[in-house]
Amino acid sequence: MNNTQVYPVKAFRDNYIWTIHNETHAVVVDPGESQPVIDFLKSKKLNLLAILITHHHPDHIGGIKNLTDRQDIPVYGPKTETIPSITHKLVEGDSVCLSALDMTLKVLDIPGHTAGHIAYVDDHRLFCGDTLFSCGCGRIFEGSPPQMFHSIEKLTALPDSTNVYCTHEYTLSNIKFARIVEPDNKDLENYEKIVEHKLANKQVSLPTSIGLEKTINPFLRCKEPKVIQAAQTQSKTPVSNEIEVFATIRSWKDKF
Ligand SMILES: [Zn+2]
Repeated sequence: MNNTQVYPVKAFRDNYIWTIHNETHAVVVDPGESQPVIDFLKSKKLNLLAILITHHHPDHIGGIKNLTDRQDIPVYGPKTETIPSITHKLVEGDSVCLSALDMTLKVLDIPGHTAGHIAYVDDHRLFCGDTLFSCGCGRIFEGSPPQMFHSIEKLTALPDSTNVYCTHEYTLSNIKFARIVEPDNKDLENYEKIVEHKLANKQVSLPTSIGLEKTINPFLRCKEPKVIQAAQTQSKTPVSNEIEVFATIRSWKDKF
């Protein structure tokens, strides 16, 4: 193991710009604004190596220009989305070699939130943009429920120990919804207490892990009888498969 760390630089109201760094170099994921990144790099005396982008929404790309105006660095991002300043366009199967940090990230296509959304993953970490949140998932803006369902399935196929770096502090409000879907889920009840405690102490609720999400995230639990039952009650019609359960709870959450 090298001594690489991942630090949440806060931006806007509830965004995290995950900064992967060692003692000398850093890479940022989804810099929606530049100043918090510049301040963090300065405070740690870090040299910015590259920018990684998961999708085109302004709160994920807004800081690119200021950061690249300061120094000429590569900007990695999804091939099928139009994002100014991307220098390396990526699709699933590509990888990003960050030799100064001694790490290589593989690219996964995870459409649904946006049409060309990608994720970056290695053996220990997943940077999933706005696709998977702790106890929730992203809104489906450009894709379809089946597409989003399959993208999330791809992420949950990763090892349970994978740390998941979501880009918003939505955990507690997601838990409030999940508790309505699964009121009897003891793991969820415990998780709510843990997250409340962390936030009360001004800590970040993230990263989460794939293994933990499988026990508490209703969007990953569409095979569970209680989740199916909640979806049936909500839709007032029988739901015949996992994707319909997923679509029902996603549109339920949209109105929550
Ligand atoms: Zn987004």
